[in-house]
Amino acid sequence: MPRRISIFGATGSIGQNTIDLIARAPEAYQVVALSGGRNVEHLARDAIKLKAEIAVTAFDEELDALQSALAGSGIEAAAGQTALLEAARRPADWVMSAIVGAAGLAPGLAALEQGATLALANKETLVCAGKLVLETAERHGAALLPVDSEHSAIFQALIGEDISAVERIVITASGGAFRDWPINKLRDATLAEASCHPNWQMGQRITIDSASMFNKALEVIETREFFGVEPEQIEVLVHPESMIHALVGFCDGALMAHVGPPDMRHAIGFALHHPERRSLPVERLDLARIGALTFHEPDLARYPALRLARDVMQRGGLAGCVFNAAKERSLDAFIEGRIGFLEMAAVVEDVLERIEGESGLIDASMTLDNVLQTDHLARSYADRVMTERAG
Ligand code: NDP
Ligand code: MG
Repeated sequence: MPRRISIFGATGSIGQNTIDLIARAPEAYQVVALSGGRNVEHLARDAIKLKAEIAVTAFDEELDALQSALAGSGIEAAAGQTALLEAARRPADWVMSAIVGAAGLAPGLAALEQGATLALANKETLVCAGKLVLETAERHGAALLPVDSEHSAIFQALIGEDISAVERIVITASGGAFRDWPINKLRDATLAEASCHPNWQMGQRITIDSASMFNKALEVIETREFFGVEPEQIEVLVHPESMIHALVGFCDGALMAHVGPPDMRHAIGFALHHPERRSLPVERLDLARIGALTFHEPDLARYPALRLARDVMQRGGLAGCVFNAAKERSLDAFIEGRIGFLEMAAVVEDVLERIEGESGLIDASMTLDNVLQTDHLARSYADRVMTERAG
């Protein structure tokens, strides 16, 4: 029986890597739903190639274009948030969560509610609503598998181990586009400069988040939520070669490292075939040729996002949701040229401080409604902070 699978965020970088793997063994999979955003022609092409049951764009105004691109194919077309949730509720065995941003949360929860195994590339899901997501998975007997390369590495290093024997978890960071820049140049960093990653090919937003290390900040929080370890047990190590993705340190002093090429098809394929290991089309490392791997501590003055992640974990509750929403909004503003590169962290810090002053907000119970409302509120705070700074 082919496995029923759906891919949310199919037109993005993770989505395309997932499709690359699926398309190598089409007989093994029955594709239920593919989702995308603005890139509807690409979405339709993949839906036809993979014989999907339904293709969904997140945006209502893209429906006509999607319908035209699918005309005569027999594939259903749908658009909008409700359609996205309905598609996520269609019975599937395995669902890839690869929408970018907090927009990925609700479809991921809907997939868990129907008992699907959720392969989680969308780190925002755990940052915004870790407790809710883990409880939903447990209640519905659904498995949650990490796809972020560091978290897949940790997950693999923990196979057969007891989490109580873990002393520390080290996630590595390439250092992003500006790792070798003098700090005083960062203020003037341009969008084009921030959008080039030295090692990984990824979507634009996560590439910029790598340059600011907001991506690593989200991943530290993701580590805490996924593996249930204490914030003090999580370390970040700059490793410019991006070959070691994470290390798990145990109470006997052993450090288990996951080493592999920077190719997301490893982590995606691991989640796709779990609990088996199957052959994957990724490069086999020749360590003798690579010769040396290097490491150094991150400079917190260069990467204020890492300090903010510590505050967020300390605060708990909905602080992760506020942090992510403010980050998304300031990233929008940087992409649109309204604020500078260093201002992103300043805006996020300001929003966290202001919302902290609003009694009860961050400690509200973690329901989907509260998370979505808090996300909305934090975005409007971020807009207000940016308007004030500009004035
Ligand atoms: P991309 O920007 O490449 O792709 C994002 C996907 O989400 C596209 O399919 C896009 O559609 C869709 N999308 C955009 N906005 C919305 C929205 N508002 N509602 C619904 N769908 C939307 O992102 P990546 O693939 O790089 O990243 C996806 C997720 O995976 C992120 O959470 C990221 O942090 C995480 N991740 C990515 C890695 C990578 O290597 N790229 C590594 C580890 C984690 P369209 O393009 O059609 O507009
Ligand atoms: Mg990562």
